[in-house]
Amino acid sequence: MAEQTTEINHIDAIDAHLDYQVVVVGAGVSGIYQIKRLADLGVRATVLDANADLGGTWYNNRYPGARFDSESYTYSYSFSKELLDEWHWSEQFSPQPETLRYLNYVSDKFALRQYMQFGCRVESMVFDDDTNAWTLRLHDGRQMTTRFVITGVGVLSTPTVPKFEGMASFEGLSFHASDWPHEPIDLTGKRVAVIGTGATAIQLIPEVAKVAGQLTVFQRRANWAAPLNNAPISESEMAAIRERYDEIFAACARSPGGFEHEPDRRGFYDVSPEQRRELWDKLYDEPGFGIWLQNFTEIFLDATANAEFSNYIADRIRQRVNDPELADRLIPKDHGFGIQRVPLETGYFETYNRANVELVDSAKTPLVRITPTGLETSAAVFEFDVIVYATGFDAFTGAFDQIDIQGTGGARLRDKWAAGPETYLGATICGFPNLLMLVGPQTAASNFPRGAELSVDWATPFLEYMWAHGHQRFDIDEAAEAEWVEHVKHMYQGVLLRTAKSWFTGYNSNIAGHEYGKMRYNIYNGGGPRYARMLRQVADNDYEGFHFQ
Ligand code: NAP
Repeated sequence: MAEQTTEINHIDAIDAHLDYQVVVVGAGVSGIYQIKRLADLGVRATVLDANADLGGTWYNNRYPGARFDSESYTYSYSFSKELLDEWHWSEQFSPQPETLRYLNYVSDKFALRQYMQFGCRVESMVFDDDTNAWTLRLHDGRQMTTRFVITGVGVLSTPTVPKFEGMASFEGLSFHASDWPHEPIDLTGKRVAVIGTGATAIQLIPEVAKVAGQLTVFQRRANWAAPLNNAPISESEMAAIRERYDEIFAACARSPGGFEHEPDRRGFYDVSPEQRRELWDKLYDEPGFGIWLQNFTEIFLDATANAEFSNYIADRIRQRVNDPELADRLIPKDHGFGIQRVPLETGYFETYNRANVELVDSAKTPLVRITPTGLETSAAVFEFDVIVYATGFDAFTGAFDQIDIQGTGGARLRDKWAAGPETYLGATICGFPNLLMLVGPQTAASNFPRGAELSVDWATPFLEYMWAHGHQRFDIDEAAEAEWVEHVKHMYQGVLLRTAKSWFTGYNSNIAGHEYGKMRYNIYNGGGPRYARMLRQVADNDYEGFHFQ
């Protein structure tokens, strides 16, 4: 990292005329760690969050079955050994209530709540070129000034709901899955519709089917999925995990996706079909993303290899669904396994063997309108008590678009990103001085906390560098940003996921203003280790690509 020039004794005294030195937007996984680092330095900082409490994704997503697909212990913050020693994850893949408890535990342990303000929806952020400071306005009219803004707004935090005719007329309960009511709702015996078959629906559907009188799933495109193979973690297993934490985090830092899973380095074509099948049989029965991330790398790059593996998974689906015609409808035909984000499931395919579950093909018979008592497709009329929209998120840029962000000369970020994000290193944006993003668009797709810690551990010394040098403003070099954007685009060339219709590539039919089908370069496909190296290199070179005042 770049050398600091001056020792700062009273860091909080810098910019005393401004309300804050740093405002962090978002009290989720990344915002919590960011405020911890700033509080440790004694910086005058606050975290603003629109929700009534902390947790971000884990505060919002309370649908039955919600949990992460990361091994729980790889989802831990790594910054405190004491914290790692104290916390016991009760399941290999922690359910939402436990993850939310964890984030509360961390915030309470390090007394971070004192820096957080809830119910604060940021409506606008305007940069003043004369004072080199941001003014933030909240929905209730309050405003505040700050030298720096750091966004920790998440990548999948703006839910998208389709605009069907008649939606407001529905007399039952209807909501997006990520707005599942906080007070428990009893679905026993109810007629429930789930629209969508993404990762959310694939977790939700088996749970709803257990209690609902009738569950109807509206599937537009089938989605590949593989078993989660979850299990409890005993005291002795947790003790062994604690012993291994250094090793676990080192493995995560080595792997492209920030997991313990590392790709099988044998060449796909260097081993026999029997050997490939042997690996796949093993991975299919193992917990977590091994089936995706411990596979041969050719699965991601080579259409023939991908097709052979997709056929293998299709056979596994056929073995689990009793009705061959139904099994066939659950097998994707338009994309291969693993080129979209793979949902992991618990009994998803067996759920379709139940008498109370129906699958409707909403590509063949599209939803036409919502009625007071249910919905109509082009072929039939359905009656429901509850409609759940599991229809995805306005990924990466959605949360930014919710805020009127004006940079230098009053230019709007919404306009700059109308055709997709453009960033420098996924951390900063040319034309938007003194704005840092945690896990912003065009960062390496990663097990979230691993990417969040990387972001925070880069942003914090960067700010220290600015304070130590007496800088008040940073700008991004236009050419440096253009080069990064080109590099990000280039990294899409070799990978099959460039053809995916998923949030990785910005596909979501429900976003007004986005051209459906037009590629958005949302992520950096070079993998976590390479991304981390590039961040380090920029810091080591005195923050090349930055201009300071
Ligand atoms: P998603 O993957 O974008 O899935 C949205 C689903 O809704 C798709 O099946 C989509 O169909 C369907 N859909 C959207 N608009 C529709 C319309 N107008 N009519 C009919 N169907 C429509 O969203 P998600 O399931 O919420 O998952 C998003 C991401 O969140 C995941 O990929 C994952 O990264 C994260 N997540 C993680 C977990 C976990 O860790 N286990 C759980 C949940 C979510 P098409 O495919 O045809 O567009």
